[in-house]
Amino acid sequence: MEADYSVRGTFRELKVRFSLADTTSLCADAIRTFDADPLAAEIFANALTTGALLAPLLEGAEKYSCQWEYPGLLGKLLVDVNARCDVRGILNAPHLISENLKAEEIFGHEDGLMKVIKFDNGSIINSGSTKAPLADITGDAGFFFSTSDQIETEFACAVRFNADPTQPVRKAAGLMLQAMPDCDLAAFDPIRERIRQNPFREILLEECPPGQKLARIAAALSQDIPEFSYGPLPGFRCSCSHGKLLGSMKLMPRADLAEIFSNRDSVAVKCEFCRREYRFNKNELIKNG
Ligand SMILES: [Zn+2]
Repeated sequence: MEADYSVRGTFRELKVRFSLADTTSLCADAIRTFDADPLAAEIFANALTTGALLAPLLEGAEKYSCQWEYPGLLGKLLVDVNARCDVRGILNAPHLISENLKAEEIFGHEDGLMKVIKFDNGSIINSGSTKAPLADITGDAGFFFSTSDQIETEFACAVRFNADPTQPVRKAAGLMLQAMPDCDLAAFDPIRERIRQNPFREILLEECPPGQKLARIAAALSQDIPEFSYGPLPGFRCSCSHGKLLGSMKLMPRADLAEIFSNRDSVAVKCEFCRREYRFNKNELIKNG
């Protein structure tokens, strides 16, 4: 299996920026961590890949936190990404297949909500929300950036699974296209439409190095083969630490902490993103405890 990668560049003639990522290992790590079934795993993989594709829009200590919220059983889905392409997420409903569900039951009958917050060094520098009307993770992310940030943006993500639960993902990959200010949107529209179709997903799922894949993509979109540069290696990486979790536990009401420690001297807390377990002693959280 080829390693994950992220590359970026520009389709010059079209004046469209692209970000292309292979997120196979990233998605496999996340799916194992959340023990997601194939239906939930596909949705989660598309959200994580969308996150990885956003890394080129960030620099320094900036971070995006993307939240999809649907009125159906899927509920909330959260994905964080920073400029180093450290991607992590929270999947609230990892088991969907047992319910024998239809798409509208998963996503709900009403529109969802998409919210994206941009942080720099931990402080919010920008935040926006739009409806998520498409019952589709990548489609709704494209809708968000096109509407809220007013930059015409399209995502295409694809994932294929193995039957082996220890190696759940055979291939996961995605492409983001984003119009530059002088882009001819009438020329961009049919390209956007093409990357939404199933044959394009097959190209994303091919086993080949990024240069070859970009050549295939360029051919499919009737564009010249673009130059590209490598971005950071995408990965399911969490920035949690004992100190950070301790900090958020200290924000809990004193009465709640007293209750937690009323009959024990230590408590185990799992990071919501990576499920790593941290143990806290009573005397770390309660003075004179
Ligand atoms: Zn963590």
